[in-house]
Amino acid sequence: MVDRVYNFSPGPATLPVEVLQQASKDVVNFKEMGIGLIEMSHRSKEFMAVTDDAEQLLRELMEIPANYKVLFLQGGASSQFYMIPMNLLGEGKKATYLNTGAWSKKAIKEAKLFGEVDVAFSSEEQTFNRVPKQSEYSVADDSEYLYFVSNNTIYGTQFPEIPVTDKVLISDMSSDILSRKIDVSKFGIIFAGAQKNMGPAGVTIVIIRDDLLEKTPDNTPTMLTYKTHADKGSMFNTPPCFAIYGVGEVLKWLKKQGGVAAIEAINIEKAGILYDCIDSGEYYRGHAEVESRSLMNIPFNLPTPELEAQFIAEAAKVGLNGLKGHRSIGGCRASIYNAFPKEGVEKLVAFMKEFEAANPA
Ligand SMILES: *Cc1c(COP(=O)(O)O)cnc(C)c1O
Repeated sequence: MVDRVYNFSPGPATLPVEVLQQASKDVVNFKEMGIGLIEMSHRSKEFMAVTDDAEQLLRELMEIPANYKVLFLQGGASSQFYMIPMNLLGEGKKATYLNTGAWSKKAIKEAKLFGEVDVAFSSEEQTFNRVPKQSEYSVADDSEYLYFVSNNTIYGTQFPEIPVTDKVLISDMSSDILSRKIDVSKFGIIFAGAQKNMGPAGVTIVIIRDDLLEKTPDNTPTMLTYKTHADKGSMFNTPPCFAIYGVGEVLKWLKKQGGVAAIEAINIEKAGILYDCIDSGEYYRGHAEVESRSLMNIPFNLPTPELEAQFIAEAAKVGLNGLKGHRSIGGCRASIYNAFPKEGVEKLVAFMKEFEAANPA
C-alpha cells in the first residue's frame, strides 16, 4: 500500500483507508457483476439497494424518526442556503438566523431573496470566535424557523447545546454531522454536504420532517421542491451515484467503530489532546473562545505569520498535510473529523512541541 500522510484538510477531507480500498475495487467491478459501480443504471436493483442501504444505515446511526425523509441531493450544501427559504418562506414571511460564520452569512444573503430575515445574534465583530448562549437571542413569534450552523468549519466554533425553540429548527451540519449524538426529533431540517464528515463530494444529505414538504409555494421549480425528491426516493433524476455509494461505505465503517456515541467519545479525546497542547503555553493561540470550541476544526495561530508559514511547510515535510488556515482568518487549522486517526493528532502535538523549542518567539 502507498504511504499515506495525515490529512488535516477541511473538506474534501480524509476518509477511512478501507473505504477507499473497497471503492477502488467496486468502481471497476461491483459485486463480481463485471460492471463498475459508476457504470450501472441508477434504477438497477443493485444500485437501488446501495441507496436504500445508505439511507437505512443513516436512519439507524442517527436514530431518525419515521416521520422524516432522507434526501440525497446535488448542488452542495450551498444550494440549501436558497432551497430552504425558497420552500419555506415567501412574501411577508420571516425567518430567524444566528450569524456565527461565513456559512451562516451566505445563508442569510440567500434567505433575504425570499422573505424577511431577522438576524438574532451575530459574532461577526469578534471574527466569529464564539457561538451564542441560549439567553443571548430570542426568536420572533412570527418567525417560520430558526436557522443555525452547528459547527463553524472556518472559525472552529460549535454549538455545545442545540438551540431550544418552539419554531421549526433548521441546521447546517455539514462539518459535524455524525460526530456527536443529537436528537433529530428536535429539528425540522438537518442538512450536510458529504465531503467533510460523511464521504466524497457530490451529494448533500437533507433530513426533513414530513409536514415541511407541504409548505412549498406553487411557483417553485420542480427540481428545487423538496417534495419532488421525497416522493421519488431521491430518484426523480439521476442522483450522484458514486457519492451516495461512498456515504454508504463510510456509514458501514462508522457502525463498525461502534456508531455515533463511540465516535463522539473518540472525537472528544482527539480534540482534547490538541487543545491541551494549545492551552499549555503562550506560543500557540486558539481562535475560538473556550466555551465555543469545536471538536472538528481547530484553528490556531503562532506568534507571527512568518512562523505560521514555516510551521505549515515543515509539518508537510513530515507527513502532516493540509494545516493552512482559511484565507479569511489565516494561521493554521487542524480539521480532525470522524475518520481522522488519533495517532495523527498525537503526531501533530509532538511536532508542535518540537517546532516551538526550535523556533522560540
Ligand atoms: C463546507 C461547508 C459548506 C459548503 O458546502 P458545499 O457543499 O461546498 O456547498 C456549507 N456549510 C458548512 C458548515 C460547511 O462547512
